[in-house]
Amino acid sequence: MQKKRHIIVIGAGASGMMAAVTAAREGCRVTILERTSKSGRKIELTGSGKCNFTNENQALSNYHTTSPDYVRDILGQFSHRQTLAFFEELGIVPKCRDGYYYPQSAQAQAISQALRQEAERLGVKFACNIMVERIEKDRQFAIQTRGYCYEADALIIAAGSMAAPATGSDGSGYALAGQLGHQVKKPLPALVQLLSTDKRLPKLAGLRMEADAVLLVDGAVCAREHGEVQFIKNGLSGIPVFQVSGQAARALDAGKAVMLQIRPSAGTEALEDRRARLGYKSLNTFFTGMYHEKYIKAALDGMKADKNAGIDAPGGTKTEKNARVGIPGGTKTDKNARVDALNEEQWKSLCQEVQDMTFSISKTNGFEHAQVCSGGVLLEELKEKTLESKKTEQLYFAGEILDVDGACGGYNLQWAWASGYVAGLHAAKGG
Ligand SMILES: Cc1cc2nc3c(=O)[nH]c(=O)nc-3n(C[C@H](O)[C@H](O)[C@H](O)COP(=O)(O)OP(=O)(O)OC[C@H]3O[C@@H](n4cnc5c(N)ncnc54)[C@H](O)[C@@H]3O)c2cc1C
Repeated sequence: MQKKRHIIVIGAGASGMMAAVTAAREGCRVTILERTSKSGRKIELTGSGKCNFTNENQALSNYHTTSPDYVRDILGQFSHRQTLAFFEELGIVPKCRDGYYYPQSAQAQAISQALRQEAERLGVKFACNIMVERIEKDRQFAIQTRGYCYEADALIIAAGSMAAPATGSDGSGYALAGQLGHQVKKPLPALVQLLSTDKRLPKLAGLRMEADAVLLVDGAVCAREHGEVQFIKNGLSGIPVFQVSGQAARALDAGKAVMLQIRPSAGTEALEDRRARLGYKSLNTFFTGMYHEKYIKAALDGMKADKNAGIDAPGGTKTEKNARVGIPGGTKTDKNARVDALNEEQWKSLCQEVQDMTFSISKTNGFEHAQVCSGGVLLEELKEKTLESKKTEQLYFAGEILDVDGACGGYNLQWAWASGYVAGLHAAKGG
Protein backbone atom coordinates (compact mmCIF):
# COMPACT_ATOMS: atom_id res chain seq x y z
CA MET A 1 0.00 0.00 0.00
CA GLN A 2 1.30 3.48 -0.90
CA LYS A 3 2.37 5.52 2.11
CA LYS A 4 0.14 8.55 2.71
CA ARG A 5 1.71 11.93 2.13
CA HIS A 6 2.44 13.52 5.52
CA ILE A 7 1.64 17.20 5.94
CA ILE A 8 2.53 19.24 8.97
CA VAL A 9 0.68 22.43 9.77
CA ILE A 10 2.23 24.91 12.23
CA GLY A 11 -0.57 26.62 14.14
CA ALA A 12 -4.04 25.44 15.14
CA GLY A 13 -5.77 28.74 14.40
CA ALA A 14 -8.41 29.49 11.78
CA SER A 15 -6.15 29.12 8.73
CA GLY A 16 -4.20 26.16 10.11
CA MET A 17 -7.29 24.12 10.95
CA MET A 18 -8.86 24.95 7.58
CA ALA A 19 -5.65 23.85 5.82
CA ALA A 20 -5.54 20.64 7.87
CA VAL A 21 -9.18 19.73 7.13
CA THR A 22 -8.67 20.41 3.41
CA ALA A 23 -5.49 18.31 3.17
CA ALA A 24 -7.05 15.47 5.18
CA ARG A 25 -10.09 15.48 2.88
CA GLU A 26 -7.63 15.02 0.00
CA GLY A 27 -6.41 11.83 1.67
CA CYS A 28 -3.24 13.05 3.42
CA ARG A 29 -1.97 12.24 6.88
CA VAL A 30 -1.97 15.56 8.73
CA THR A 31 -0.41 16.70 12.01
CA ILE A 32 -0.96 20.16 13.52
CA LEU A 33 1.75 21.49 15.84
CA GLU A 34 0.37 24.10 18.22
CA ARG A 35 2.43 25.94 20.83
CA THR A 36 -0.44 26.57 23.25
CA SER A 37 -2.54 23.97 25.04
CA LYS A 38 -5.64 24.60 22.94
CA SER A 39 -6.69 25.06 19.30
CA GLY A 40 -8.62 28.07 18.02
CA ARG A 41 -8.01 30.48 20.90
CA LYS A 42 -8.14 33.57 18.71
CA ILE A 43 -11.30 32.43 16.92
CA GLU A 44 -13.03 32.39 20.32
CA LEU A 45 -12.34 36.11 20.79
CA THR A 46 -13.68 37.17 17.41
CA GLY A 47 -16.68 39.42 16.89
CA SER A 48 -16.87 40.12 20.64
CA GLY A 49 -17.29 36.38 21.21
CA LYS A 50 -19.88 36.00 18.45
CA CYS A 51 -17.49 35.48 15.49
CA ASN A 52 -18.17 37.51 12.40
CA PHE A 53 -16.83 34.74 10.17
CA THR A 54 -17.39 36.17 6.70
CA ASN A 55 -19.06 38.98 4.76
CA GLU A 56 -21.04 38.96 1.52
CA ASN A 57 -19.39 42.17 0.28
CA GLN A 58 -16.03 40.89 -0.88
CA ALA A 59 -14.76 44.05 -2.64
CA LEU A 60 -10.98 43.83 -2.85
CA SER A 61 -10.72 47.25 -1.20
CA ASN A 62 -11.52 45.52 2.10
CA TYR A 63 -8.11 43.84 2.02
CA HIS A 64 -4.80 45.70 2.57
CA THR A 65 -1.75 44.17 0.94
CA THR A 66 1.15 45.00 -1.36
CA SER A 67 -0.04 42.29 -3.80
CA PRO A 68 -3.80 42.70 -4.47
CA ASP A 69 -3.71 40.38 -7.51
CA TYR A 70 -2.64 37.48 -5.31
CA VAL A 71 -5.42 38.21 -2.85
CA ARG A 72 -8.00 38.31 -5.64
CA ASP A 73 -6.75 34.94 -6.90
CA ILE A 74 -6.87 33.24 -3.53
CA LEU A 75 -10.29 34.64 -2.59
CA GLY A 76 -11.51 33.56 -6.02
CA GLN A 77 -10.69 29.94 -5.14
CA PHE A 78 -12.72 30.00 -1.91
CA SER A 79 -15.51 32.57 -1.88
CA HIS A 80 -17.66 33.68 1.04
CA ARG A 81 -20.36 31.37 -0.35
CA GLN A 82 -17.97 28.45 -0.05
CA THR A 83 -17.23 29.52 3.52
CA LEU A 84 -20.95 29.47 4.31
CA ALA A 85 -21.42 26.07 2.62
CA PHE A 86 -18.35 24.66 4.40
CA PHE A 87 -19.58 25.65 7.84
CA GLU A 88 -23.21 24.72 7.14
CA GLU A 89 -21.96 21.23 6.30
CA LEU A 90 -20.35 21.16 9.76
CA GLY A 91 -23.62 22.18 11.41
CA ILE A 92 -23.16 25.94 11.75
CA VAL A 93 -26.39 27.81 11.00
CA PRO A 94 -25.35 31.18 9.55
CA LYS A 95 -27.09 34.35 10.65
CA CYS A 96 -26.75 37.37 8.37
CA ARG A 97 -26.84 40.97 9.64
CA ASP A 98 -26.44 43.52 6.81
CA GLY A 99 -24.15 41.12 4.95
CA TYR A 100 -22.06 40.23 8.05
CA TYR A 101 -22.29 36.52 8.95
CA TYR A 102 -22.26 35.03 12.46
CA PRO A 103 -23.21 31.58 13.76
CA GLN A 104 -26.86 31.63 14.83
CA SER A 105 -25.84 30.46 18.29
CA ALA A 106 -23.84 33.74 18.60
CA GLN A 107 -20.91 31.75 20.02
CA ALA A 108 -17.49 32.01 18.42
CA GLN A 109 -16.44 28.76 20.06
CA ALA A 110 -19.00 26.98 17.85
CA ILE A 111 -16.78 27.79 14.86
CA SER A 112 -13.53 26.67 16.49
CA GLN A 113 -15.14 23.51 17.86
CA ALA A 114 -16.73 22.63 14.52
CA LEU A 115 -13.34 22.91 12.84
CA ARG A 116 -11.57 20.84 15.46
CA GLN A 117 -14.26 18.16 15.42
CA GLU A 118 -14.13 17.89 11.64
CA ALA A 119 -10.33 17.72 11.67
CA GLU A 120 -10.40 14.96 14.30
CA ARG A 121 -13.12 13.07 12.41
CA LEU A 122 -10.78 13.07 9.40
CA GLY A 123 -7.91 11.73 11.54
CA VAL A 124 -5.89 14.97 11.88
CA LYS A 125 -3.52 14.68 14.83
CA PHE A 126 -3.32 17.72 17.14
CA ALA A 127 0.03 18.03 18.97
CA CYS A 128 -0.49 20.85 21.50
CA ASN A 129 2.08 22.53 23.77
CA ILE A 130 4.57 22.04 20.93
CA MET A 131 6.61 25.10 19.99
CA VAL A 132 8.31 24.88 16.60
CA GLU A 133 11.76 26.44 16.89
CA ARG A 134 13.67 25.52 13.76
CA ILE A 135 12.96 24.12 10.33
CA GLU A 136 15.34 22.55 7.85
CA LYS A 137 14.61 21.14 4.45
CA ASP A 138 16.49 18.42 2.67
CA ARG A 139 14.37 15.88 0.81
CA GLN A 140 11.82 16.21 3.58
CA PHE A 141 11.18 18.90 6.16
CA ALA A 142 12.80 18.45 9.56
CA ILE A 143 10.70 20.42 12.04
CA GLN A 144 12.52 20.89 15.29
CA THR A 145 10.57 21.40 18.49
CA ARG A 146 11.82 21.33 22.06
CA GLY A 147 12.91 17.72 22.40
CA TYR A 148 11.54 16.21 19.17
CA CYS A 149 12.04 16.44 15.42
CA TYR A 150 9.00 15.91 13.17
CA GLU A 151 9.33 14.99 9.50
CA ALA A 152 6.94 15.98 6.75
CA ASP A 153 6.60 15.82 2.96
CA ALA A 154 5.00 19.25 2.91
CA LEU A 155 4.79 22.03 5.48
CA ILE A 156 2.16 24.73 5.96
CA ILE A 157 3.13 27.65 8.19
CA ALA A 158 -0.08 29.12 9.63
CA ALA A 159 1.45 30.60 12.77
CA GLY A 160 -0.47 33.89 12.72
CA SER A 161 1.00 37.32 13.39
CA MET A 162 1.93 39.26 16.53
CA ALA A 163 -1.57 40.50 17.23
CA ALA A 164 -3.22 39.35 20.47
CA PRO A 165 -0.14 37.35 21.54
CA ALA A 166 -2.02 35.92 24.54
CA THR A 167 -3.77 33.64 22.02
CA GLY A 168 -0.42 32.14 20.97
CA SER A 169 0.55 34.14 17.90
CA ASP A 170 3.76 35.66 19.26
CA GLY A 171 5.43 36.44 15.90
CA SER A 172 7.66 33.35 15.97
CA GLY A 173 6.20 32.34 12.60
CA TYR A 174 8.04 35.24 10.93
CA ALA A 175 11.38 33.89 12.18
CA LEU A 176 10.49 30.42 10.86
CA ALA A 177 9.66 31.94 7.45
CA GLY A 178 13.01 33.75 7.55
CA GLN A 179 14.85 30.44 8.16
CA LEU A 180 13.40 29.20 4.87
CA GLY A 181 14.47 32.27 2.90
CA HIS A 182 11.44 34.53 3.16
CA GLN A 183 11.25 38.28 3.64
CA VAL A 184 8.75 39.82 5.99
CA LYS A 185 7.23 43.28 5.61
CA LYS A 186 7.51 44.87 9.06
CA PRO A 187 4.45 43.80 11.08
CA LEU A 188 2.54 46.68 12.68
CA PRO A 189 -0.63 46.64 14.78
CA ALA A 190 -3.89 47.14 12.85
CA LEU A 191 -7.56 47.23 13.86
CA VAL A 192 -6.38 48.95 17.02
CA GLN A 193 -6.94 52.14 19.04
CA LEU A 194 -5.12 55.36 18.08
CA LEU A 195 -3.45 57.11 21.00
CA SER A 196 -3.09 60.82 21.67
CA THR A 197 -1.90 63.01 24.53
CA ASP A 198 -4.60 65.61 23.77
CA LYS A 199 -5.82 67.04 27.08
CA ARG A 200 -9.48 66.97 26.00
CA LEU A 201 -9.52 63.18 25.87
CA PRO A 202 -9.71 62.33 29.60
CA LYS A 203 -12.84 64.50 29.77
CA LEU A 204 -14.34 62.88 26.68
CA ALA A 205 -13.57 59.34 27.89
CA GLY A 206 -16.58 57.04 27.82
CA LEU A 207 -18.41 58.98 25.12
CA ARG A 208 -19.58 57.11 22.01
CA MET A 209 -20.66 59.16 19.05
CA GLU A 210 -21.79 58.60 15.46
CA ALA A 211 -19.24 60.44 13.29
CA ASP A 212 -16.81 60.30 10.40
CA ALA A 213 -13.23 59.50 11.39
CA VAL A 214 -10.94 61.21 8.90
CA LEU A 215 -7.28 60.24 8.83
CA LEU A 216 -4.85 62.98 7.81
CA VAL A 217 -1.26 62.07 6.99
CA ASP A 218 1.08 65.03 6.62
CA GLY A 219 -2.03 67.19 6.29
CA ALA A 220 -3.63 65.24 3.42
CA VAL A 221 -6.80 63.17 3.78
CA CYS A 222 -5.76 59.53 3.57
CA ALA A 223 -8.86 57.61 4.73
CA ARG A 224 -12.36 58.29 5.96
CA GLU A 225 -14.74 55.91 7.75
CA HIS A 226 -18.17 56.43 9.28
CA GLY A 227 -19.50 54.76 12.42
CA GLU A 228 -19.52 54.87 16.19
CA VAL A 229 -16.36 56.58 17.48
CA GLN A 230 -15.43 55.82 21.07
CA PHE A 231 -13.39 58.26 23.13
CA ILE A 232 -10.98 56.71 25.64
CA LYS A 233 -8.84 58.56 28.17
CA ASN A 234 -5.70 58.37 26.05
CA GLY A 235 -7.06 58.02 22.54
CA LEU A 236 -9.79 57.04 20.13
CA SER A 237 -11.40 53.71 19.48
CA GLY A 238 -14.44 52.17 17.76
CA ILE A 239 -14.86 50.57 14.36
CA PRO A 240 -14.24 53.65 12.17
CA VAL A 241 -11.01 54.32 14.08
CA PHE A 242 -9.97 50.67 13.79
CA GLN A 243 -10.61 50.74 10.05
CA VAL A 244 -8.09 53.57 9.51
CA SER A 245 -5.60 52.39 12.14
CA GLY A 246 -3.47 50.20 9.84
CA GLN A 247 -2.76 53.17 7.58
CA ALA A 248 -2.10 55.36 10.61
CA ALA A 249 0.39 52.79 11.95
CA ARG A 250 2.30 52.67 8.65
CA ALA A 251 2.42 56.48 8.45
CA LEU A 252 3.60 56.83 12.07
CA ASP A 253 6.26 54.19 11.46
CA ALA A 254 7.49 56.26 8.51
CA GLY A 255 7.77 59.32 10.78
CA LYS A 256 4.82 61.17 9.23
CA ALA A 257 2.45 63.51 11.07
CA VAL A 258 -0.84 61.75 11.75
CA MET A 259 -4.05 63.51 12.78
CA LEU A 260 -7.54 62.16 13.26
CA GLN A 261 -10.51 64.44 12.67
CA ILE A 262 -13.79 63.50 14.28
CA ARG A 263 -16.66 64.89 12.27
CA PRO A 264 -20.19 64.43 13.57
CA SER A 265 -22.71 64.44 10.78
CA ALA A 266 -24.32 67.92 11.15
CA GLY A 267 -23.18 70.12 8.27
CA THR A 268 -22.86 73.90 8.13
CA GLU A 269 -26.45 74.31 6.93
CA ALA A 270 -27.83 72.50 9.97
CA LEU A 271 -25.77 74.72 12.26
CA GLU A 272 -26.89 77.88 10.46
CA ASP A 273 -30.48 76.80 10.78
CA ARG A 274 -29.94 76.16 14.48
CA ARG A 275 -28.40 79.60 14.95
CA ALA A 276 -31.41 81.19 13.24
CA ARG A 277 -33.83 79.39 15.56
CA LEU A 278 -31.86 79.13 18.80
CA GLY A 279 -29.31 81.95 18.64
CA TYR A 280 -30.77 83.41 21.81
CA LYS A 281 -29.22 80.50 23.74
CA SER A 282 -25.86 80.69 25.48
CA LEU A 283 -22.72 78.98 24.22
CA ASN A 284 -23.11 76.52 27.07
CA THR A 285 -26.60 75.43 26.09
CA PHE A 286 -26.76 76.07 22.35
CA PHE A 287 -25.78 72.50 21.33
CA THR A 288 -27.67 70.71 24.08
CA GLY A 289 -29.76 67.94 22.57
CA MET A 290 -27.62 67.87 19.46
CA TYR A 291 -24.31 66.73 20.93
CA HIS A 292 -23.36 65.10 24.21
CA GLU A 293 -22.40 67.63 26.88
CA LYS A 294 -18.87 66.16 27.12
CA TYR A 295 -18.39 66.83 23.43
CA ILE A 296 -19.73 70.39 23.69
CA LYS A 297 -17.40 71.16 26.59
CA ALA A 298 -14.42 69.76 24.70
CA ALA A 299 -15.32 71.76 21.60
CA LEU A 300 -15.58 74.99 23.59
CA ASP A 301 -12.33 74.23 25.40
CA GLY A 302 -10.64 73.46 22.11
CA MET A 303 -11.44 76.81 20.53
CA LYS A 304 -8.03 78.30 19.94
CA ALA A 305 -7.20 81.67 21.42
CA ASP A 306 -7.50 83.88 18.42
CA LYS A 307 -7.03 87.58 18.90
CA ASN A 308 -8.60 88.42 15.56
CA ALA A 309 -11.66 86.42 16.37
CA GLY A 310 -11.56 87.82 19.89
CA ILE A 311 -11.78 84.39 21.45
CA ASP A 312 -9.93 84.01 24.68
CA ALA A 313 -9.66 80.36 25.60
CA PRO A 314 -5.92 80.44 26.22
CA GLY A 315 -3.85 77.94 24.25
CA GLY A 316 -6.94 76.01 23.45
CA THR A 317 -6.23 74.01 26.54
CA LYS A 318 -7.81 76.01 29.32
CA THR A 319 -10.75 74.04 30.52
CA GLU A 320 -12.34 75.99 33.33
CA LYS A 321 -16.05 76.50 32.97
CA ASN A 322 -15.81 80.20 32.62
CA ALA A 323 -13.14 80.45 29.96
CA ARG A 324 -14.04 83.70 28.32
CA VAL A 325 -15.08 84.41 24.82
CA GLY A 326 -14.70 87.86 23.39
CA ILE A 327 -17.49 89.68 21.65
CA PRO A 328 -17.09 92.35 18.99
CA GLY A 329 -15.57 95.51 20.31
CA GLY A 330 -13.00 93.69 22.38
CA THR A 331 -15.07 93.35 25.54
CA LYS A 332 -15.20 89.89 26.96
CA THR A 333 -17.96 87.67 28.04
CA ASP A 334 -18.14 84.09 29.29
CA LYS A 335 -19.73 81.00 27.88
CA ASN A 336 -23.06 82.26 29.09
CA ALA A 337 -22.92 84.75 26.22
CA ARG A 338 -25.67 84.43 23.62
CA VAL A 339 -24.66 82.72 20.41
CA ASP A 340 -26.24 85.46 18.31
CA ALA A 341 -23.82 87.91 19.99
CA LEU A 342 -20.83 86.20 18.34
CA ASN A 343 -19.35 87.87 15.30
CA GLU A 344 -18.98 85.86 12.09
CA GLU A 345 -15.39 84.87 12.81
CA GLN A 346 -16.25 83.65 16.27
CA TRP A 347 -19.24 81.76 14.92
CA LYS A 348 -17.08 80.13 12.22
CA SER A 349 -14.48 79.16 14.77
CA LEU A 350 -17.16 77.59 16.94
CA CYS A 351 -18.64 75.66 13.98
CA GLN A 352 -15.17 74.51 12.94
CA GLU A 353 -14.41 73.14 16.40
CA VAL A 354 -17.72 71.31 16.65
CA GLN A 355 -17.63 69.91 13.12
CA ASP A 356 -13.93 68.93 13.00
CA MET A 357 -12.53 67.98 16.35
CA THR A 358 -8.92 67.17 15.46
CA PHE A 359 -6.51 65.05 17.49
CA SER A 360 -2.81 64.65 16.91
CA ILE A 361 -2.00 60.91 17.03
CA SER A 362 1.23 59.95 18.77
CA LYS A 363 1.09 56.16 18.32
CA THR A 364 -1.21 53.17 18.00
CA ASN A 365 -2.00 50.94 20.90
CA GLY A 366 0.27 47.85 21.13
CA PHE A 367 0.06 44.39 19.54
CA GLU A 368 -1.66 43.05 22.64
CA HIS A 369 -4.66 45.26 21.84
CA ALA A 370 -4.60 44.81 18.05
CA GLN A 371 -7.00 42.46 16.29
CA VAL A 372 -4.59 41.89 13.39
CA CYS A 373 -1.21 42.91 12.00
CA SER A 374 -0.50 44.66 8.77
CA GLY A 375 2.61 43.40 6.97
CA GLY A 376 3.97 39.86 7.03
CA VAL A 377 5.46 37.32 4.62
CA LEU A 378 5.57 38.85 1.14
CA LEU A 379 3.09 37.26 -1.26
CA GLU A 380 5.31 37.91 -4.25
CA GLU A 381 7.70 35.26 -2.90
CA LEU A 382 4.92 32.67 -3.22
CA LYS A 383 3.34 31.07 -6.28
CA GLU A 384 0.26 33.08 -7.10
CA LYS A 385 -2.36 30.35 -7.31
CA THR A 386 -1.07 27.82 -4.77
CA LEU A 387 0.65 29.78 -1.97
CA GLU A 388 3.67 27.51 -2.37
CA SER A 389 6.99 29.17 -1.63
CA LYS A 390 9.20 30.12 -4.56
CA LYS A 391 12.17 29.73 -2.21
CA THR A 392 11.54 26.30 -0.70
CA GLU A 393 9.59 23.57 -2.50
CA GLN A 394 6.60 22.07 -0.70
CA LEU A 395 6.46 24.94 1.79
CA TYR A 396 3.12 26.78 1.99
CA PHE A 397 1.77 29.69 4.03
CA ALA A 398 -1.74 30.55 5.15
CA GLY A 399 -3.56 33.19 7.19
CA GLU A 400 -2.45 36.30 8.94
CA ILE A 401 1.26 35.52 8.73
CA LEU A 402 0.99 36.73 5.13
CA ASP A 403 1.12 40.37 4.08
CA VAL A 404 -2.68 40.72 4.02
CA ASP A 405 -4.94 42.36 6.59
CA GLY A 406 -8.64 42.87 6.21
CA ALA A 407 -11.07 45.50 7.38
CA CYS A 408 -13.37 44.83 10.36
CA GLY A 409 -16.33 42.81 9.13
CA GLY A 410 -15.32 39.16 8.73
CA TYR A 411 -12.56 39.82 6.18
CA ASN A 412 -9.65 38.51 8.23
CA LEU A 413 -11.38 35.22 8.84
CA GLN A 414 -12.45 35.00 5.18
CA TRP A 415 -8.76 35.42 4.31
CA ALA A 416 -7.85 32.70 6.85
CA TRP A 417 -10.44 30.28 5.38
CA ALA A 418 -9.53 30.98 1.74
CA SER A 419 -5.75 30.91 2.17
CA GLY A 420 -6.01 27.86 4.48
CA TYR A 421 -8.08 26.05 1.88
CA VAL A 422 -5.68 26.91 -0.99
CA ALA A 423 -2.56 25.99 1.00
CA GLY A 424 -4.12 22.72 2.25
CA LEU A 425 -5.34 21.71 -1.21
CA HIS A 426 -2.06 22.34 -3.01
CA ALA A 427 0.10 20.92 -0.23
CA ALA A 428 -1.99 17.74 -0.53
CA LYS A 429 -1.58 17.64 -4.29
CA GLY A 430 2.13 18.38 -4.05
CA GLY A 431 2.12 21.54 -6.13
C1 LIG B 1 -10.18 40.37 19.61
C2 LIG B 1 -10.21 39.93 18.16
C3 LIG B 1 -11.39 39.98 17.47
C4 LIG B 1 -11.42 39.62 16.11
N1 LIG B 1 -12.64 39.60 15.45
C5 LIG B 1 -12.68 39.18 14.16
C6 LIG B 1 -13.93 39.03 13.50
O1 LIG B 1 -15.02 39.17 14.10
N2 LIG B 1 -13.91 38.68 12.18
C7 LIG B 1 -12.75 38.44 11.51
O2 LIG B 1 -12.79 38.13 10.31
N3 LIG B 1 -11.55 38.51 12.13
C8 LIG B 1 -11.50 38.85 13.44
N4 LIG B 1 -10.28 38.91 14.09
C9 LIG B 1 -9.05 38.53 13.32
C10 LIG B 1 -8.98 37.01 13.13
O3 LIG B 1 -9.29 36.37 14.34
C11 LIG B 1 -7.57 36.58 12.69
O4 LIG B 1 -7.20 37.28 11.54
C12 LIG B 1 -7.50 35.08 12.40
O5 LIG B 1 -7.99 34.33 13.47
C13 LIG B 1 -6.05 34.68 12.09
O6 LIG B 1 -6.00 33.30 11.93
P1 LIG B 1 -4.59 32.58 11.72
O7 LIG B 1 -4.89 31.13 11.64
O8 LIG B 1 -3.85 33.18 10.59
O9 LIG B 1 -3.74 32.92 13.02
P2 LIG B 1 -4.00 32.61 14.61
O10 LIG B 1 -5.45 32.43 14.87
O11 LIG B 1 -3.25 33.61 15.33
O12 LIG B 1 -3.34 31.17 14.78
C14 LIG B 1 -1.95 30.97 14.78
C15 LIG B 1 -1.64 29.78 15.69
O13 LIG B 1 -0.27 29.43 15.52
C16 LIG B 1 0.28 29.10 16.80
N5 LIG B 1 1.73 29.32 16.73
C17 LIG B 1 2.38 30.49 16.52
N6 LIG B 1 3.71 30.29 16.48
C18 LIG B 1 3.90 28.96 16.67
C19 LIG B 1 5.06 28.14 16.73
N7 LIG B 1 6.28 28.64 16.59
N8 LIG B 1 4.92 26.80 16.95
C20 LIG B 1 3.67 26.26 17.10
N9 LIG B 1 2.53 26.99 17.04
C21 LIG B 1 2.66 28.33 16.82
C22 LIG B 1 -0.43 30.07 17.74
O14 LIG B 1 -0.40 29.60 19.08
C23 LIG B 1 -1.83 30.11 17.16
O15 LIG B 1 -2.69 29.15 17.73
C24 LIG B 1 -10.23 39.22 15.44
C25 LIG B 1 -9.03 39.17 16.16
C26 LIG B 1 -9.01 39.51 17.52
C27 LIG B 1 -7.72 39.41 18.28
